[in-house]
Amino acid sequence: MVQISEVKESGSRESRTAAHTHINGLGLDEYGAAKKVDGGFVGQAEAREACGVIVDLIKYRKMSGKAILLAGGPGTGKTALALAVSQELGPKVPFCPIVGSELFSAEVKKTEALMENFRRAIGLRIKEIKEVYEGEVTELTPEESENPLGGYGKTISHVIVGLKSAKGTKQLRLDPSIYEAIQKERVSVGDVIYIEANTGGIKRVGRSDAYATEFDLEAEEYVPLPKGDVHKKKEIVQDVTLHDLDMANAKPQGGQDVLSMMGQLLKPRKTEITDKLRQEVNKVVSKYISQGIAELVPGVLFIDEVNMLDIECFTYLNRALESKIAPIVILASNRGKTTVRGTDDVKAPHGIPPDLVDRLLIVRTLPYNKEEIQTIIFKRAKIEGLNINEQALDRVATIGSEKSLRYGLQLLTPAGILATTSGRTEILPEDIDECLDLFLDGKRSTKILEQSESYL
Ligand code: ATP
Repeated sequence: MVQISEVKESGSRESRTAAHTHINGLGLDEYGAAKKVDGGFVGQAEAREACGVIVDLIKYRKMSGKAILLAGGPGTGKTALALAVSQELGPKVPFCPIVGSELFSAEVKKTEALMENFRRAIGLRIKEIKEVYEGEVTELTPEESENPLGGYGKTISHVIVGLKSAKGTKQLRLDPSIYEAIQKERVSVGDVIYIEANTGGIKRVGRSDAYATEFDLEAEEYVPLPKGDVHKKKEIVQDVTLHDLDMANAKPQGGQDVLSMMGQLLKPRKTEITDKLRQEVNKVVSKYISQGIAELVPGVLFIDEVNMLDIECFTYLNRALESKIAPIVILASNRGKTTVRGTDDVKAPHGIPPDLVDRLLIVRTLPYNKEEIQTIIFKRAKIEGLNINEQALDRVATIGSEKSLRYGLQLLTPAGILATTSGRTEILPEDIDECLDLFLDGKRSTKILEQSESYL
């Protein structure tokens, strides 16, 4: 049985997108022109417009077999652009950012790691039509709330829960296990809950759109739904990635078979994610796609520092781009001409072999001017809930344009801490100066290293 359970993203992946929470789309107008400051984006107009065209190409299915390269200096918004492309493609489109060098770990083969990330970037939207009872949680009467288990003591069989639907308030007698589930889900007054009607009984309880927990109640324990209640067909949509499915099937957890409908081909067992398992998962997926129950949602695989990939990875990438189910691959580089890793000194632009370059749409990102840097920093400060005064903002913007935008942005949080420590709610220029003393930027630390080397 295919088991699908919630797979928590690793912390580092989350923190990689955390720096971009202010980005929500490319910020283009109806003609595809970049608005000055929109979608969280500031400046970088040409690149945003080019990415807008790419989004159209993807939507018209004209990108298959091709990939995108964002070329530009560090901190020029390449990751932010790739994220915005995924956001423009629709809600819940997977975005999987990786850095070239992380494919090289001792434990997993690099092409295996690449494949894993390909599958993280391919979503599957599963739709189920459920017959549900829809109602709102309402207050119990004073007597009931005094004894929420319905006054039956320990041997109770039912709990009374008040449900308000379009047809008025109704009180339902629920099995205690369902009641417990409601409590666990922390349903409170005013929440909407859905109870799945199942041949005259109640089988599932869940809060709002949170997926229902399943109860295998014995037939006699079924609580009949009151006649004449609102029975509604509700579409329940669940978004997972192919990698989630691989994981769940390789290490079935049992119990949480949220998408039990998928459970038809694989037997539960603990195993590694192998090619065979992936193929089996693919088979189930294809079956549900052809039945119209599921839909593929190709997302964005973003590979930063693409020059860190070697020739074997590039060969793999070329092949993977041809495959029927592939995500949109966006590469990023801040290198010029450099040696392709794993070759005897083949030099190529961005360290990318020519056969892959042929498949690329290349978008350039340009450095920001001080005003743009200032706006970006101000946006980040707002998102992080930091109050920064005008001179301090100007100071960070100057530093950002002299050193790097990243460095400028990184000063914000510690400056906020320094301000709080001094009993202030506003960041002042002195906090920025103190941060400068405390933390070196790349250029200064290189200089110090060079100086100390000369003493050796
Ligand atoms: P690197 O090459 O070092 O990986 P990058 O080009 O991917 O850098 P980002 O990580 O996208 O750069 O940008 C650095 C930070 O600045 C991020 O927090 C990003 O969201 C923000 N940022 C960059 N460009 C813009 C922009 N045009 N508008 C708003 N925020 C931006």
